[in-house]
Amino acid sequence: MGLSIAIVGSGPSGFYTAESVLEKWADCTVDIIEKLPTPYGLIRYGVAPDHAKTKTVAKSYEALALDPRVRFFGNVEVGKDVSVAELRQRYDAIVLATGCSTDKKLGIKGDDKKGVLGVASFVNWYNGHPAARWLDPDLNTESVVVIGVGNVAVDVARVLVKTPEEMAATDLMEHAAQVIHKSPIRHVTMAGRRGPLHAQFTNVELREMGHLKDAAAIVDPAQLPETIPDDAKAEFSERQLRLIQRNIDTLRGFTKLEPGARKKRVHFLFFSNPAEILGGERVTGVRFEKTRVEKGRATGTGEFFEIQCGLVIPAIGYYSLPVPGVPFKDGKAINTEGRIEPGLYAVGWIKRGPSGVIGTNKPDGDAAAEQIAADTQGMSSGKPGRAGLEALLQDRKVRVVSFADWKRIEAAETARATAPAPRRKFATVDEMLAALDAPGGTVSTPSRAAAQAD
Ligand code: NAP
Repeated sequence: MGLSIAIVGSGPSGFYTAESVLEKWADCTVDIIEKLPTPYGLIRYGVAPDHAKTKTVAKSYEALALDPRVRFFGNVEVGKDVSVAELRQRYDAIVLATGCSTDKKLGIKGDDKKGVLGVASFVNWYNGHPAARWLDPDLNTESVVVIGVGNVAVDVARVLVKTPEEMAATDLMEHAAQVIHKSPIRHVTMAGRRGPLHAQFTNVELREMGHLKDAAAIVDPAQLPETIPDDAKAEFSERQLRLIQRNIDTLRGFTKLEPGARKKRVHFLFFSNPAEILGGERVTGVRFEKTRVEKGRATGTGEFFEIQCGLVIPAIGYYSLPVPGVPFKDGKAINTEGRIEPGLYAVGWIKRGPSGVIGTNKPDGDAAAEQIAADTQGMSSGKPGRAGLEALLQDRKVRVVSFADWKRIEAAETARATAPAPRRKFATVDEMLAALDAPGGTVSTPSRAAAQAD
């Protein structure tokens, strides 16, 4: 009898773990348990809608899901429908791959005002995560400040300023497109507390900002170093220095671009630490302190300035939501190189925090497989595994969405899309389940009032 392994979460780290354990043990069974009826986590709800190429990685995850040893248990929430302790009674190994779904807070005066919008909720909203369907952000402002200069900040800035034509071939949610494209937003300021040497965005993502139809990228050349200073050279690896040089070259290129007829502006602002969110009940601006960077650290100069805006989006990182029954600290599961305790492991962002690109999750899967091997010697303890979970969920009348069901939801989303959009995602779990109940039929979009009355 092979090992029975349960993976909680079906984003990249979950699927890379499935790949690693399937390669290691020909006779194992792998059950992927997912809270939503839809698989792929970050690929579906985190990757920007206009980054279709990045999303094609889901094809390789699909191939894994179709492996006869794998079963997808969608619409099953660990901590609600089944506990970690109950999984432990049934499986030889449990791997948590639940990612990071909540925002890191700025922790400055005024950060709870209306108009400060956590980036996780905002990205979920435009990507159709059911938890953010009714977020209803107020984008009725000409000026938005995005705090942070990482790839998520770049994604958000780009989605806010791209034209409807630029977004036509994407899966941007209709409810978001209607609000974004009607908004009077003209200025999006991305503010970094350190300088361009320490910006976290990658070069491909940065370069895109120079090719927007109706938005010009604006950088103050005085904030760009002529050359990378010697003391900074000691701080970075050769590879990092090459990336930094490319970013600086790209930013310098922006300073030479003519805005032409473009009506919108994306400002890259460095050496600016948010000190206070201004306004009454609602945000009216951000007060920044100018910084200087020494040995990689930003220190305040005592000089302050303000930017007027009606919306602030801190894109400063995420935390994992605690999984009931699992020790947590600082937004991560407490683990030693992925092992929480023998039989219980963590991979991806719940293990190491929100860093790296999609492929960075792959070694986590390999590490989990190695630890499972060390803890079990590859021998099953004879726990019931899948049959045990199925019996429990049946007993609790949980409506499990299988992978075949998901493929029907996906087909319905594709069928109702208007070309050139690749799909029109269902935005609530009820709509997804209704699509399964009414194959070939139409699924009405619920109103907020109806959904809240449910
Ligand atoms: P990130 O890359 O860590 O960037 C976070 C930004 O927020 C940094 O500029 C950071 O500045 C700033 N920040 C953090 N705390 C702050 C505070 N209290 N006040 C002011 N600024 C603060 O995180 P991310 O953008 O959320 O991205 C998460 C991961 O997903 C990254 O590895 C990213 O590359 C990846 N991702 C990749 C793509 C892609 O490949 N297209 C797209 C999206 C996300 P400091 O550096 O000074 O701390």
